[in-house]
Amino acid sequence: MSMQAILDAILGGASGDELAALPLPESYRAAVVLESEQEMFDGLDSADKDPRKSIHLQEVELPELAPDEAVVAVMASAINFNTVWTSIFEPLPTFGFLKRLGRQSIWGARHDRPFHVVGSDAAGVVLRVGSAVRNWKPGDRVTIHCNYVDDQDPSAHNDSMLASNQIIWGFETNYGGLADLTVVKANQLMPKPAHLSWEEAAVNALCNSTSYRMLVSSNAAGMKQGDAVLIWGATGGLGGYAVQYVLNGGGTPVGVVSSPEKAELLRAMGCDAVIDRKAANYRFWVDEHTQDESEWRRLGKDIRALIGRDVDIVFEHPGRQTFGASVFVAARGGTIVTCAATSGYMIEYDNRHLWMKLKRIVSSHFANYAEAWAANQLICEGKIQPILSAVYPLSETGEAAYQVHKNLHEGKIGVLCLAPTEGLGIDDPEFRQRVGEDRITLFRRHGA
Ligand code: NDP
Repeated sequence: MSMQAILDAILGGASGDELAALPLPESYRAAVVLESEQEMFDGLDSADKDPRKSIHLQEVELPELAPDEAVVAVMASAINFNTVWTSIFEPLPTFGFLKRLGRQSIWGARHDRPFHVVGSDAAGVVLRVGSAVRNWKPGDRVTIHCNYVDDQDPSAHNDSMLASNQIIWGFETNYGGLADLTVVKANQLMPKPAHLSWEEAAVNALCNSTSYRMLVSSNAAGMKQGDAVLIWGATGGLGGYAVQYVLNGGGTPVGVVSSPEKAELLRAMGCDAVIDRKAANYRFWVDEHTQDESEWRRLGKDIRALIGRDVDIVFEHPGRQTFGASVFVAARGGTIVTCAATSGYMIEYDNRHLWMKLKRIVSSHFANYAEAWAANQLICEGKIQPILSAVYPLSETGEAAYQVHKNLHEGKIGVLCLAPTEGLGIDDPEFRQRVGEDRITLFRRHGA
């Protein structure tokens, strides 16, 4: 009942004071995986592990609020690949992370539960703030980034991604975003882009910030104007933002996708150099242990045929399947920036191509608060567009995660939590018009 009152108040435009006066419910709906089921897929191949079987919608108790935290009413959330990893219990069940956090402090102990509320993205409204929170108040409309650090640790005070206690909210913590409420640290909050709907605002923080750090930040590739960038999965979650950063930064994206439909979407984004990897049928691996250099060379030739030169940066995340090729095709002195290994993390590449051509491999992982804020600001200014392609209700989180697991999606999949329908939450329709409905909804129209 109190959740309906909160929703009615938000939809009715209640003030922050009015929201703060509403009682919080003792429990709320959340998409969870269960510790009791963490062995349910043992013996199956990854591809056969089905998030629809492991993700459940259930009531969970609202944890006590720490002084540096906020309770947020989640209007919409999103599927990330880490939700897929949690739901198939790979490479490890995430309950080990929750236990480790549980041992750190009394506040950490709240996270060690037999359920794990998943989700590392959200947009919503602040309902409560703890006594130590200064910059946010009830009623604030926010998006949430997933970098979770204890800022009382000195290691968190240069680049917080280097903090010894850095973890990811909703993956290595409990009480994630795929729920009606969430509890987050105040230093995860960012302003919601006023021209976007809840679901458009909810899908960006994780992938947009990651792509920003990988390409734009001096902490990773540090792309400059004129750079040519090979982007694997160029209409996927990370790639859909990476293409925009390269175009905005005066570079030349070479996008790799796996179907004619995705190739068309990529062209509609303004990426002229497109490779359909399925049509090209690259065979980088002859068998499980052997790679074929002539296939790397073929990819390199295809890139040169499109843009007349080699790429300065390779935007890497598929991992084992592509990494050898990525190292090979980067230009002399080029950079391979990697944040993931979807197809396998035991990587093999020919080191001669790396050192003889003075290339470098740079690692990257999510983004610190300043980077996430800068990436969010670009969305607020209409310079980076959301790449929302489909929307599911919270009750179908398992199906939404299945779509991502099976690579049946484009861009990002949004999930409606408290928001009853799509299209709500747009506070600045004039600015939306200036940015352009066509640009904002490009992926949604394509995915529909
Ligand atoms: P998506 O599934 O949305 O997009 C990835 C795309 O990569 C796919 O759509 C696919 O595009 C392409 N791809 C997948 N497998 C292969 C392959 N074997 N060879 C070539 N291309 C492939 O996922 P995200 O972009 O959201 O995430 C990608 C990876 O990055 C995941 O492993 C995720 O966990 C990780 N990640 C890491 C982050 C970090 O902070 N370290 C943050 C965000 C994500 P197509 O079929 O069209 O080629």
